[in-house]
Amino acid sequence: MNETVKVEVPEIKIADAVTLPARDTAVIIVDMQNDFVKEGGKLVVPQARETIEPIRRLVEKARSNSVRVIYTQDTHWDGDPEFKLWGEHVKIGTWGWRIIDELKPAENDIVLIKTRYDGFYGTPLDDILRSYGIRNLVITGTVANICVLHTAASAGLRWYKIVLPMDTVSALTEFDYYLTLRQVSWLYNGIVVRTADSIEFT
Ligand code: ZN
Repeated sequence: MNETVKVEVPEIKIADAVTLPARDTAVIIVDMQNDFVKEGGKLVVPQARETIEPIRRLVEKARSNSVRVIYTQDTHWDGDPEFKLWGEHVKIGTWGWRIIDELKPAENDIVLIKTRYDGFYGTPLDDILRSYGIRNLVITGTVANICVLHTAASAGLRWYKIVLPMDTVSALTEFDYYLTLRQVSWLYNGIVVRTADSIEFT
């Protein structure tokens, strides 16, 4: 039986601006790959297109302040069990797997292949962050309530400080979007900030 229930979004604390120390902050871009973002992709999140520019400006600002930029790249091979849930997507080496041209990683950025929703699961992300002494994570990308939220949750459990700019994450439904903001701010004690442009690095 399917049931539709109407719920109200509980209050979400939203910050107007945030300043972060460049030295111990990283910007994480989750799964901004052709299959999720671009027309013709296998699992497109239409809203993701609107997040490209804010993320691009944030990444530029991060690089010019020597803030580390880290990408996750969802990756599957033939016969991956996730294909039973989602159909084939981001198969290694395909166009859909590649990170979108607008957000092409620079030489000194870190790109981590991940196989599940969580950017920490089975990847060296935690080790890398610890090695560089990073404590604050600005998390961006798609899909909000799937890979972004699982990555943010995993960061929260490890006591990283999470900053989530609202204009840099995208979901398939409004519910999924607000659920993500609510979980990050309330459950993981993160900072939800209205725009990526309002984040400053010192
Ligand atoms: Zn996947």
